[in-house]
Amino acid sequence: MAQVTAPKGTQDILPKDSGRWQRVEAIIRELCAQYGFKEIRTPVFEHTEVFVRGVGETTDVVTKEMYTFEDKGGRSVTLRPEGTAGIVRAFVENGLFNEALPAKLYYMIQCFRYEKPQKGRLREFHQFGIELFGAADPIADATVISMPYRLFKRVGLGGISLQINSIGCRECRARYREALIAYFEKDRERLCPTCQERLEKNPMRILDCKSEICRRVAEQAPLITDYLCPDCDAHFSAVKKYLDVMGIAYQVNPRIVRGLDYYNRTVFEFISDQIGAQGTVCGGGRYDGMTEQFGGGPQPGIGFAMGMERFMLVLEQAGVELPAERDCDLFLIPLGERAVQEAVRLTALLTESGSRVQYDLMARSVKAQMKYADRIGAACTAVLGDSELEEGAVVVKNMADGRQEKVALDALSSKWLEGFCK
Ligand code: ATP
Ligand code: MG
Repeated sequence: MAQVTAPKGTQDILPKDSGRWQRVEAIIRELCAQYGFKEIRTPVFEHTEVFVRGVGETTDVVTKEMYTFEDKGGRSVTLRPEGTAGIVRAFVENGLFNEALPAKLYYMIQCFRYEKPQKGRLREFHQFGIELFGAADPIADATVISMPYRLFKRVGLGGISLQINSIGCRECRARYREALIAYFEKDRERLCPTCQERLEKNPMRILDCKSEICRRVAEQAPLITDYLCPDCDAHFSAVKKYLDVMGIAYQVNPRIVRGLDYYNRTVFEFISDQIGAQGTVCGGGRYDGMTEQFGGGPQPGIGFAMGMERFMLVLEQAGVELPAERDCDLFLIPLGERAVQEAVRLTALLTESGSRVQYDLMARSVKAQMKYADRIGAACTAVLGDSELEEGAVVVKNMADGRQEKVALDALSSKWLEGFCK
C-alpha cells in the first residue's frame, strides 16, 4: 500500500527530540510555579464564536487562518488558533473571578492555523502562555514581561531583544485612527489589497503588514505613543520604571501593534535575530475588559504566548545544551532461562526503588544485546549466567569508562547503582 504522510504544516516530534521538549517544558512549569501560576487546560476545539469574539473579527487569524468546520450536529466549531480566547471563556464560565485574584493561569497547548508553512511557521504548532486576570496595575505588566525574560536567562539564551509599546485605550486609539487614515489615504493605491481593506476597518493593522511596500509606506506614519491620553501615558511610564528596577533591558517600538484585536495599553514582543523572518518568539499584551466579550463582568487581563517551535529553533541555533537525564541505568543480559528469571526479579526490585533497568525482549544474542545497550545509552551492563547465579554475585560494567565491579546480587540496589554509574 502507498504510504500516508503527515498533513502539510504539521510535524512529528520524535523520541530523539521529545526529551529536549520535555526538559524545556519542565523548566517552564517550574518557572510558572515560582511565579504562582497554575495550569489551565481547555478544549482543543471551541464554538467558532469564541474566537470571533476573543481574537477579533478583523484579524488575519479569524478571517484567514482558522480550521473551522461543522460537526455532525451542525454546529460550527474551530480548532483553537491560540489560547487566550478559550481561557477567557473558561474564566467567565467557571466563575474563576470569585476565587483569589489575580487569577494566575498558564497553558501549554497545540494550536492550529491555516497558514503557508515555512521555517518557524506551521499549521499545527505549540504555545506556552500565561494569563493574569484582575490586576490593572502596571506592576502586573512588568511582572508578566519578566517571565519570558527569566526563562531565556535560565536556559542561558542571549540575543533576544524585548520590544515594548503602548497602544493606549479606546480613546487614544480613536484619535490615532483618524491620524493614521489621513496619513495612509495619500498612498492608498500603493498599499497591498489587504491593507487597502484594513484602511477602513482597522488601519493600525497596516503597521503589522509584512509586505515590503506597505512597510515602506508606513515608514513616516504617525506614532501611537504621541496619541496617548495622560492615564495611558502614566501607565506606560510605570511599566518602564518597573522594568528598569528589575534590570530588564527593552526598546520602545511604537510600531508594535500585535496581530490580535483585543489588546490595549501594554504590548510587547521578544524577538530573536537568529532564526530569520519568523523571529518573534513571544508576544503579548494587556486585554482589559475582554471578559465582557464573553458575558462576564469587566476584568483587567494581561498575558503572552510563546511559540514553542520557534523557541526550540532559537535554542538549537544558539547551541544551548540542557542536561539530559540518563535513559537507562542498567541493562541486564541474562544467559539461560534461570538467569532470565533472576533478571526479571532483580529488575522488578530495582524498578521499585527508582532505577531505570531494562533487559532484552527479543531473544537476541549476547553480542546483539550489548550493541542494543550501547545504542540506548545504558550507563551500565551486567551479564548474568550460571556461574554468577551460583556465586550470587555479578560483574557490573560501567559503559562510559569501562570500569568493572563485582557486586553480590542481594547488594545490587538502586543506591549502589547510583554510586557506580556516576
Ligand atoms: P506572526 O506575526 O509571526 O504571524 P502572530 O502575531 O500571528 O505571529 P501570535 O498570535 O501573537 O503570533 O502568537 C504568539 C506566538 O506564537 C508567536 O510569536 C509565534 O512565536 C508563535 N506562532 C504564531 N503562529 C505560528 C505558527 N503558524 N507556527 C509556529 N509558531 C507560531
Ligand atoms: Mg500570524
